[in-house]
Amino acid sequence: MPRHELALAATWRNLKWAVQFHKRPFWLVPTEDGYEASPWKPDPACLPHGTTAKLYDQELTVIDSMDSTNPGETVVVEESTVEFEPAIDILRRAATGEIVHLNQGLCPDRLDHHSRDPVCDVCKAIIAVDLRHTS
Ligand SMILES: [Zn+2]
Repeated sequence: MPRHELALAATWRNLKWAVQFHKRPFWLVPTEDGYEASPWKPDPACLPHGTTAKLYDQELTVIDSMDSTNPGETVVVEESTVEFEPAIDILRRAATGEIVHLNQGLCPDRLDHHSRDPVCDVCKAIIAVDLRHTS
């Protein structure tokens, strides 16, 4: 699994905990080597070139976003690097019953469609697709 995907899963877990614990939206901020969860609006000039920070509310819905204004030529981690094709394949296999959610409590179900378990392969695929669709 690519390193940025691991970093995203860990940050997603932190962000999900933070919005619920602090009862306020948090930013998912791209960094040079991954992502971080932040309560503060990022400085667009500090975001890696070509990336977008997103503000998630307690429903994990994107309510604001900020594009990088950084013109730099540094090596960047863009959201498009989240593996999309493998995610679709995982979702296809989940839909056919070939693989299933871990179902350890954090997976989405009939009552909570927004919950994600960052260590569940099916949930990780959903997160990758969620990010793709909200960018
Ligand atoms: Zn799951």
